[in-house]
Amino acid sequence: MEKNLERDLKFFELFSRLASLTQIVNQPPQIPEIQKLLSEISSMYRLSKGVTHFYRNPGEEERGQGETMVSYDLKLPSHPVHTVRFVTRLMSITTMTVYQADDEPPLDDDELSKVDLTMRTTLAFISRNRLQVIAEQLAFFDDMGFSNIRSFFGYINWHSKPGDLNGMAAINYNIRRFSLINEEFGRDVGDTVLLNHYNMVAGMVGKDGIVSRLGGDTFVCICKKEILPAVLDFLTRAEVGFNSRGDNAVVSCYVGAFIIPDGFIAYSPNDIMVKIMSAFQLAKQGSSGNIVYYYDAMVTDREHVKRVQQQFPDALAKGEFHVFYQPKVNTVTGEICGGEALCRWFRHGKIVPPGDFIPILEETSDICRLDFFVLDTVCRNIRRWLDEGRKVVRISVNLSRRHMVNERLLETILEIIERNNVPHKYIEIELTETTTDVEFKDLQRVVCGLQEANICTSVDDFGMGYSSLNLIRVIPWNVLKVDRSFLPLDDEDSTSIRSIMFRHVVAMTKEMGLECIVEGVETEAQLRVLRDNNCEQAQGFLFDKPLPIEEFEKRLDMKKYDIGL
Ligand code: C2E
Ligand code: MG
Ligand code: MG
Repeated sequence: MEKNLERDLKFFELFSRLASLTQIVNQPPQIPEIQKLLSEISSMYRLSKGVTHFYRNPGEEERGQGETMVSYDLKLPSHPVHTVRFVTRLMSITTMTVYQADDEPPLDDDELSKVDLTMRTTLAFISRNRLQVIAEQLAFFDDMGFSNIRSFFGYINWHSKPGDLNGMAAINYNIRRFSLINEEFGRDVGDTVLLNHYNMVAGMVGKDGIVSRLGGDTFVCICKKEILPAVLDFLTRAEVGFNSRGDNAVVSCYVGAFIIPDGFIAYSPNDIMVKIMSAFQLAKQGSSGNIVYYYDAMVTDREHVKRVQQQFPDALAKGEFHVFYQPKVNTVTGEICGGEALCRWFRHGKIVPPGDFIPILEETSDICRLDFFVLDTVCRNIRRWLDEGRKVVRISVNLSRRHMVNERLLETILEIIERNNVPHKYIEIELTETTTDVEFKDLQRVVCGLQEANICTSVDDFGMGYSSLNLIRVIPWNVLKVDRSFLPLDDEDSTSIRSIMFRHVVAMTKEMGLECIVEGVETEAQLRVLRDNNCEQAQGFLFDKPLPIEEFEKRLDMKKYDIGL
């Protein structure tokens, strides 16, 4: 009796410590202490082993797939003597079974009730603790196991003191045309490629930084400045394996990067997000390369971008966009042989040049609406000129690369031309070169379609940026517009590289049976170079700047330009 009382006192002492330790919230659980108390209680009640299982749901329990934790084990031949099962409202299940060594006397009712009490208290704790870990996982990782935006923000919040982010860089990247990988290899492979690519970046970044998924195929990352070149190199082009046979997919990304200056303080994660996202937007747009570094004016630039995008629909409806025409001139006869339609925005009494709004409209599909508006205006004017019995020349209209993905592009162009009852020969469509294979295919499709409809097509700005000879070999253009960067300067002689290239480009164009026009002709000497090389068409300030329609009509009525013949 005496002995039992002593043991009961001891039990209640141990149990009350266990109860208080397992009730603590908002602090990391003191697992070793808890385990020590459980061992003591177990040995008091002649238990040889205690095993706990945690199942997230009844299905896992049925399949026996939960996590197993052994809290106490004397490693003796044993048999189970008592099991407790605890089900939460979230349907997670925790079970605990205690064992006795085969040669121990069994527990009496009183002993069993104390063991049971201990087990229930412990189970409630384990269940809560496991659920907390799971909740954290759900909060900081997405369903594919990628660290998510909350983790990324958490990282920045943890590094919010001055100097915390010294020597670090932040990037925002997106996989180019990831949908193509899905289409070509299937979604499962796509998922594997995404995960492997992520793991490779995370491996490079290591513990000093973080890589998180914003969603889809867009990621953000903070890493040490020293490894940024290697990371960017990887992001520019990586071969990512997706099976054990060694097959791989080539993955390249658009990247916006921000080198965090020493002493930078992120008062909120947004201070970093705004910067990498602004740079990223520019990268995605494509005109500034695949990697764009953040610079200070970028955020104000973004505000300007937003303003233009907001004002556009209203401005279009109010007729603020006007079409100007720049004449194209025959270099031999001086006659006007065509015109290019160029857009101008009349805003609060000022003319906004296309460079200030076209690239912004190109970020969305707004540019397509504008281009169709320009085409429609041009068609209406040509119809009127024809009706008035005026001289009519072929007018070229610029179409942004943004249109290329539009499956209905061709139909829309034809619809506009036909609605205005304009003979196809008076319309020319100018397109610029493309940067990727996919766009190349789209471009090919569009140009061939226009050809079939007897609508002239030209490569604009040939020689600027990414020109490839492939572009003119494979796609059946009618006209090649040589960019002014090819045009020899006045003081250059005929042996300069530029002069040699110019000669060859013009000769090649003619030999391929294409019309050749040179843009940006500003001086008499340049005009002479064109003539010497049998290039028959020129466009440039030497003749006229882009003109309002009334002025252009005067040029149409004029017999020819005086080109000093
Ligand atoms: P672009 O299609 O290459 O048009 C030629 C540009 O060169 C025009 O600039 C024109 O004013 C300029 N230019 C012509 N002759 C000379 C010259 O002798 N010297 C110099 N320095 N420049 C000359 P603009 O009108 O500012 O247009 C710039 C670009 O904006 C165009 O380049 C075109 O890419 C785009 N753009 C203009 N209007 C439209 C449009 O309606 N739709 C689309 N998608 N793009 C347009
Ligand atoms: Mg053009
Ligand atoms: Mg051009």
